[in-house]
Amino acid sequence: MTLKYVPSTTRKLARMLQCEGIEFTYSEGPAFRFPDFSCENGGQMLLLGQSGSGKTTLLHLLAGLLQPTKGSIKIDETAVENLSSSKLDHFRGQNIGIIFQTAHFIDSLSVIDNLIMPQYLSGKVIDRKKAMVILERLSLQHKANVPPRQLSVGEQQRIAIARALVNDPKLILADEPTSALDDKNASEVIKLLREQAEISGATLIIVTHDQRLKDEFEKRVEL
Ligand code: ADP
Ligand code: MG
Repeated sequence: MTLKYVPSTTRKLARMLQCEGIEFTYSEGPAFRFPDFSCENGGQMLLLGQSGSGKTTLLHLLAGLLQPTKGSIKIDETAVENLSSSKLDHFRGQNIGIIFQTAHFIDSLSVIDNLIMPQYLSGKVIDRKKAMVILERLSLQHKANVPPRQLSVGEQQRIAIARALVNDPKLILADEPTSALDDKNASEVIKLLREQAEISGATLIIVTHDQRLKDEFEKRVEL
């Protein structure tokens, strides 16, 4: 076997996400045309737009939950629009962690069981210990056995982050992670999200209308 040497600078500059000419139309309503952008491996960026500007739509396109009508979305050199739906589900489960605008936990399950759900759904080995380590990283280990509804809004957002991290995604997509939070919780959640993305070597893309985040990110695109 020959090992190819890749200098770390080259690896760092490799692109995790590249979007070109993306357009999308729901069965009814206007066509969305999104700006071109890219994000390097391990980078963190903000996609800013007002309510109704198509942020959630774009996030769902990036996650492969919607298919663009035009354009190309490459994640780690894979053109997601070319994958069949079963390949896409597998690709998403292996590579992408999503923090949805509304978290949707399963309330009949405990926090820890909600956290292992992505492992179960993507066919990975169920690893409660790993889920517990992530909970500890987010200082929520004492909430492992309670149902999610017993948590505060800020705690639920941290659980949503934990759930997005549990499969070691290369790419984390977060939809308005701070919009329901007061200033203190918003800045805590963003700090955690950025730190955790960095620790796990993941690229982080946040879509938001929250102007409080604007100055925290060097790299941002207006929708
Ligand atoms: P944002 O997240 O920026 O608030 P969205 O992406 O949720 O914006 O929505 C953008 C526009 O697309 C809105 O006008 C919304 O009503 C419309 N829209 C969202 N989802 C659907 C859908 N499933 N079918 C038709 N129109 C939709
Ligand atoms: Mg939205």
